Amino acid sequence: MVLETEAAVKKEAGVDKKSDEEYRQQLTELEYVVLREGGTERPFTGEFVEHFESGMYACKACGAELFSSDSKFDHGCGWPAFTEPVGKKTIQYVRDSSHGMERIEVRCAACESHLGHVFNDGPMPLQTRYCINSVALDFSDGESA
Ligand code: FE
Repeated sequence: MVLETEAAVKKEAGVDKKSDEEYRQQLTELEYVVLREGGTERPFTGEFVEHFESGMYACKACGAELFSSDSKFDHGCGWPAFTEPVGKKTIQYVRDSSHGMERIEVRCAACESHLGHVFNDGPMPLQTRYCINSVALDFSDGESA
């Protein structure tokens, strides 16, 4: 039997969440609109669009590690693009039919904050392109990527 810590169980059950008030205090207005209301930053405005240093990108809302710089590529679309997340359980996928499009929304699995969308026009062999808002991410450099 594998025993998990109570924190891990709570996280798994999705109870490890901050209150709306905490998010409002922690995040800037734009970060809040993107992460907590599913908004999108304007293209080519985010700090990580042209950012290609070695390191790890984490969720701005909860700190969970999401994408390694190893998976980052320049798609030219105005938002950071990644081929894959760091772990299989890192991302929550939600069908999004808004704005007259059929898209797959990606959220942080740990805190369910909105990150962006995933498309199937990425580079071979995976062909996935995670199109992520810069303001939804925190970057820390290092060799651990
Ligand atoms: Fe998160």
